[in-house]
Amino acid sequence: MFPRARSRGLASGSGTGTGTGSGREIRASLVNRRDILQAAGVAGGLCVLPMFSLEAAPLKYRLEPVEIAAGAWMLVGVDEAITRENGGAIANITILDTSEGAVVVDTGPSKRYGMQLADIARALTGKPVVRAYITHFHPDHVFGSQAFGAKALAAPAGVVEGLKRSGDDFASAMYYLAGDWMRGTEVVLPERILETGYEDIGERRLRTLVLGGHTDSDLALFDERSGLLIAGDLAFLDRAPTTPHADLALWQASLATLSGISFSKLVPGHGPAESTPRALRQTADWLKSIEDVIRSAFDRGLDMSEAMGEPLPSWSENIALARYEFERSVMHFYPKLEADLWPRVDR
Ligand SMILES: [Zn+2]
Repeated sequence: MFPRARSRGLASGSGTGTGTGSGREIRASLVNRRDILQAAGVAGGLCVLPMFSLEAAPLKYRLEPVEIAAGAWMLVGVDEAITRENGGAIANITILDTSEGAVVVDTGPSKRYGMQLADIARALTGKPVVRAYITHFHPDHVFGSQAFGAKALAAPAGVVEGLKRSGDDFASAMYYLAGDWMRGTEVVLPERILETGYEDIGERRLRTLVLGGHTDSDLALFDERSGLLIAGDLAFLDRAPTTPHADLALWQASLATLSGISFSKLVPGHGPAESTPRALRQTADWLKSIEDVIRSAFDRGLDMSEAMGEPLPSWSENIALARYEFERSVMHFYPKLEADLWPRVDR
């Protein structure tokens, strides 16, 4: 997943409190929402922020673990875009018990989420989290990482590169979208670099599959003990896939790879876990459908807003956020189609 808007600085008049006591001065400058929220935590006198309000949301995520296999649980993300109501808790998170400690796959959207996740994992397993795998660099999957620290975090090199490149922009975007839920959240880069292979933690052997297509680097994990296939955002179920960093051909190839695994249950990045391969098929069908619809609209000379109104296959009526994600996909892919059709001649 990817947030639907980028953060931009707020106009002067908002500010960060500097100094102490009655002499506190407000630095009037262009600052982003993230800076303001960080500052609001220390500047108690800054109770009136003219551009937005720090609403009194119940800042505790409602996380209810669902057992999906022996010693394995899932925290189910809501089928929504990131909002201040859901605090960005839209992605599925997996928790595994091992004799060495708890293992989590993805860390959620914020430091606050990560801390709750750490508490839940400890309560379920009786052990602290010893390893946190990051499936890809999208913010709803990575920003709980502070609760675990860089040494416990493991991801493919491409995920770490993506976080280096875009992590700060994602953090700012998340502050803009989710607001106060994000307070104190910063990017943490995983120190343990994964390749396709195996990870042994206690009695569990996890097969690591470094794939791509949803982003340029996507990790899937197969737990040989339980037969769980944790697919990250390579698989969506009953919720439309997001495509801001997608390579559709590579994504289809990764889905074909995952289809070759004999799993007991598949945990998609978004949507319910099932023992069927429905998530893999549905994701592949969706990607093929939007590629066909967008290509056809482009070839018929429709402009971007006309393309967004094109009909989708009837089966997608039961897919959450289908129209919303399709419109976003048009916005991502139309400029690429135009660039292919009309290459620059000045280079
Ligand atoms: Zn994603």
